[in-house]
Amino acid sequence: MTQEPLAAAPRRRVLLPAPRSFCAGVERAIEIVERLLQQHGPPVYVRNQIVHNAHVVADLESRGAVFVGELDEVPDDALVVFSAHGVAPAVEREAAGRGLDTIDATCPLVAKVHAEAKRAADGGDTVILIGHEGHEEVVGTIGVAPDRTLLVESVGEVANLRVPDAERLTYLSQTTLAVTEVEAIAEALKVRFPAIKGQGADDICYATTNRQAAVAAVVDEADLVLVVGSANSSNSNRLVELANSAGVAAHLIEDAAAIDPAWLIGAETVAVTAGASAPPRLVDDVVRALAALGPIEVVERVHTRETQEFLLPQRLRPAATNRPR
Ligand code: SF4
Repeated sequence: MTQEPLAAAPRRRVLLPAPRSFCAGVERAIEIVERLLQQHGPPVYVRNQIVHNAHVVADLESRGAVFVGELDEVPDDALVVFSAHGVAPAVEREAAGRGLDTIDATCPLVAKVHAEAKRAADGGDTVILIGHEGHEEVVGTIGVAPDRTLLVESVGEVANLRVPDAERLTYLSQTTLAVTEVEAIAEALKVRFPAIKGQGADDICYATTNRQAAVAAVVDEADLVLVVGSANSSNSNRLVELANSAGVAAHLIEDAAAIDPAWLIGAETVAVTAGASAPPRLVDDVVRALAALGPIEVVERVHTRETQEFLLPQRLRPAATNRPR
C-alpha cells in the first residue's frame, strides 16, 4: 500500500509594519539616563517612568536608576531626571526651590506643545487641550497654564464645554493620540467655536502618526495584530484600537511571554508592531516565539523611513563632536 506524502504545515505570514518601536524622543530620554549613570554613577533619580515601558524601566533600575512619583521622595543633593512626558512648571519651580540638580528629558515635541500652550495663554486665550485625563503628558501640559486650560477627551464632551470667551480659544492636543480621533474632536470644536485657533492633528508627533499609518497600511491583510507595549503606553493602545476599529483582533502584549497560543488559531497572517516606547528586541522575541509555534514567513512592510534625531541636553553632549541625537 502506498502512503500519501504528509502535507507541509502552511507557513504563517508575519507582517512587520515599519516604523515600529523606539522613536527619537524615547531614545534620547533613555540615553540621558544611561549617560548620567555612566558619568555621575548611581543613584540617578527619575521622576515618573522615563518612558512608559516596563522593560526599559526594569533595565535602568537594575543599573542604578531610581524611579519616583514625586520630588519629595528625592534627597536634597540628588540628581533628578524629568521623564520624556514633560513636567508642569510648578514641578520645575519646586526642584529649583530645593536646589536639586535636574536634567530635563522631556521630548522636544512635548516641549513644543508646552510652548504653544504658554504662548496662547499669555496672549489671553483659553487653551482647550485634547487629551486623556491623568496621562503624565496631559498633567504637565495643563500645568503650563492651569487656570486657562480645559481638557476635552471626546467629541461628545465638546457640546458641554463652558468657555469664558468663545472668541479667545486655542486648541492643542496630546502628542500620542489617534490622528482620526483628534481630527474629529478638532472639527467639533471648530463647529461649536468658529473663531477657535488650532491646527488639526498637528500636535500628534511624527512617531505616533507614522506607527498608526504603518499599521493602517497592513491591517486589512492581517487576521491578528500584536502590539508590543506596556498598558500605560498611550500610543501603543491607540495601535490596538486602530486594528480593532478595522475589525481585526488585536492584543497589547508586554512581551513574547504574553502571547496566548489560542489567539493564533486560524490566524494565517499576523501583524506585529510596537509602540514608540517598546524596545525593538521585544519585537524580535515575539517573532521568535511565533516561529516556535509553527513555520513562518516574515515580511517587512516599510511605510515610512524615520530620520528624526534630537539633540541631547547641552551638558551631556560629547565635547569633541556635539553630534546630534
Ligand atoms: S512618542 Fe512622540 S512625543 Fe513621545 S517621545 Fe516619541 S517622538 Fe516624542
